[in-house]
Amino acid sequence: MKYQMETQCVSDAGNHSNSAIAQPITLSTNFERLPDGTYPSEFVYSRLDNPNRNQLEEKMAILEKGQVAFAFSSGMAATNAIFQGLQAGNHIIIPSDGFYSTTDLANEFLYKWGIEVSRIEMTDLNSVKKAIRPNTALIWIETPSNPTLKITDIAAIADLVRGKGIKIAVDNTWPSPILCNPLELGADFVMHSATKYIGGHGDVTGGIVVCKAADDFSEKIFKAQTLAGAVPSPFDCWLMNRGIKTLALRVKQQTENAVKLADYLASHSKVELVLYPGLVSHRGHEIAKRQMADYGAMLSVQIDGNAKNALAVTGKLKLFTAATSLGGVESLVEHRKSIEGENSPTPGNLLRVSVGIESADDLIRDWEQALG
Ligand code: PLP
Repeated sequence: MKYQMETQCVSDAGNHSNSAIAQPITLSTNFERLPDGTYPSEFVYSRLDNPNRNQLEEKMAILEKGQVAFAFSSGMAATNAIFQGLQAGNHIIIPSDGFYSTTDLANEFLYKWGIEVSRIEMTDLNSVKKAIRPNTALIWIETPSNPTLKITDIAAIADLVRGKGIKIAVDNTWPSPILCNPLELGADFVMHSATKYIGGHGDVTGGIVVCKAADDFSEKIFKAQTLAGAVPSPFDCWLMNRGIKTLALRVKQQTENAVKLADYLASHSKVELVLYPGLVSHRGHEIAKRQMADYGAMLSVQIDGNAKNALAVTGKLKLFTAATSLGGVESLVEHRKSIEGENSPTPGNLLRVSVGIESADDLIRDWEQALG
């Protein structure tokens, strides 16, 4: 039977531990062979696979509707594994607005490996069309983008490259599998920083790649996982597995809170602009409506004034802790430009907000007192 997402999150898929409801944590690094040289379980050595990682990968493949998934020790390790599937002479296209470490990773390593990189406005189909070269091998999409919440039309880009042998990878960290399934829209790979919504409690760093097909490229990602070895520990996998059980519930509550907060902030006199795809005024609203089940729990707020004014607001907020990262149960706020560095194109008055599961009324009251 095909289950709904809420059921898939709590179902037993991938738990092969017989009667235990919560999968035991298997810390063993190695697994015994039988006298005939075979292995009674499918496991050999924990860098290659272990029961907790196996459950996580099976679960994520189901949630993202892919054929195979690979877990990593961080989102960046997952991104890097996709890049490792490229070859010298390839060209890739990345967004001009997106998580800054992804751009840094491309700048730091891809040139050294003989791979060309074009950084473009990914929301503009004409820019994408113009950027494609005969050696283009990969288009990297991040939607909504971090931190300005630009929305890229995944299906339109998939249509554009169909038959050209170009792979599409989508960083689906912000929507989580609950709100968007890029593989169904024509992407080949989905990448998650599982540190965010998948873990959901700010206590585990991890990454996942889900592939539409088990093919030559997914084999290269598997090799990058098991040979480069940036794998998550069994306990980290266990935490991610536990996080997934409440993923649908958390994302639903967080999104409901974010919609209310965005509406409130959008009409506040001390707010210059609210960047949230759920607002009808948002440039990407119609595309987001089409490709996402809901608009998510991330928003950015441009405070009337400059960086000093924005930082002053973070100092006054009590329920929104000023900290980096996102997607956990507690609300966070972050002045992005100061973490991205001086060359960052992010406006100085922008605060990125990760909305948690607290009472929406309390969250709104907190902004009310902070904005004064
Ligand atoms: N992609 C996005 C959209 C992110 O927000 C982050 C982290 O903030 C990453 C990737 C990197 O993930 P990690 O910090 O788990 O390596």
